[in-house]
Amino acid sequence: MRPFVYERATGPEHAAALLTSDPGATLLAGGTNLVDLMKLGVARPSLVVDINGLPYDRVDHRDDGSLVVGATVRNSDLAGDPGVRRRFPLLSEALLAGASGQLRARATTAGNLLQRTRCVYFQDIGKPCNKRAPGTGCAAVEGSHRDLAVLGTSDACVASHPSDLAVALAALDATVLVRPIGDGQGPSRIPLTDLYRLPGDTPDRETVLRRGDLVTGVEVPPPPVGAAMRYRKVRDRWSFAFAVVSVAVLVTLDEDGALRDVRLALGGVAPLPWRAREAERLLTGRRPTRDLVRSAADAEFAAARPLPHNAFKVGLAADVLTETVLALAAPAGSER
Ligand SMILES: Cc1cc2nc3c(=O)[nH]c(=O)nc-3n(C[C@H](O)[C@H](O)[C@H](O)COP(=O)(O)OP(=O)(O)OC[C@H]3O[C@@H](n4cnc5c(N)ncnc54)[C@H](O)[C@@H]3O)c2cc1C
Ligand code: SF4
Repeated sequence: MRPFVYERATGPEHAAALLTSDPGATLLAGGTNLVDLMKLGVARPSLVVDINGLPYDRVDHRDDGSLVVGATVRNSDLAGDPGVRRRFPLLSEALLAGASGQLRARATTAGNLLQRTRCVYFQDIGKPCNKRAPGTGCAAVEGSHRDLAVLGTSDACVASHPSDLAVALAALDATVLVRPIGDGQGPSRIPLTDLYRLPGDTPDRETVLRRGDLVTGVEVPPPPVGAAMRYRKVRDRWSFAFAVVSVAVLVTLDEDGALRDVRLALGGVAPLPWRAREAERLLTGRRPTRDLVRSAADAEFAAARPLPHNAFKVGLAADVLTETVLALAAPAGSER
């Protein structure tokens, strides 16, 4: 491990001053991802700014039904919040499907959203990786890519995004709250689905945040009246395992059984939480028969670029998406 300076920020202004004082500064929240990457030599900050003392540790349920989650709220606290469990069960389900109890007790909301890919070559400084070391190549294409992305990839990078929480928040139309620090000119509210960038030729640039931007929280609007929602995750083990594929589904139904609102997000299949807009378009206003839902799921994957060892994800994700939509949309006991 390389030497670095550790500073504990006493307030947002102090954090800003520290971040701008050193181009090698980085933020430390729960540290469950950053510290691992520092040990591996992947992250090499010269200054670590600890933000655990900042006033971003609250879960607020507003009168209008919206939810505001502070950046440093622990994953376990958010998952266990009674109002979240009752009104946003998708969030609790996604969080509890991730990591382990110990990790969730430490990991934070913003840290979870900004954690780095688990691509094994990204974590191995001895291997080529365009994300970690631009221009060195992508070892995953010819190597181990079973867990990586099939949608939104580029020739430069096929990494998948690891966060379960981000997928649930994408389906809930969440907004990321930012305190621009650098020149103070950046946006202070970013729709979560706009936070992340596709890899293109610059996979090292994963979000639209600029160096020094501090995420202060996430705002979730009230779900539509009568919404049913669910998070489903396929993983190799019951705990300590990232998504092979995951789906976050929110639906509301008209009286005639047609889908009034359909929001679908996918995890484990793309470099970012993937909002399945094409499938949503094909399903909105329609009665969700099995054939229709499956064809909408297949349409979402029409642009997939699977590799030999992850091609199975296309059918698997379409299956999980189809079954989850049908389970939420079907009256109990009925078969469509
Ligand atoms: C064995 C294991 C299994 C796991 N399984 C899962 C899983 O199944 N699903 C899942 O979703 N996750 C999983 N995780 C990942 C875990 O959830 C993340 O490590 C954690 O959420 C990161 O949060 P943190 O607060 O510890 O972030 P940190 O490690 O402190 O920070 C992560 C990144 O975010 C940046 N950052 C943090 N806070 C802010 C802020 N406020 N503003 C701007 N930048 C910020 C940091 O600078 C850093 O770059 C697993 C981790 C491990 C080790
Ligand atoms: S998939 Fe992306 S993160 Fe993985 S080796 Fe290739 S460039 Fe690096």
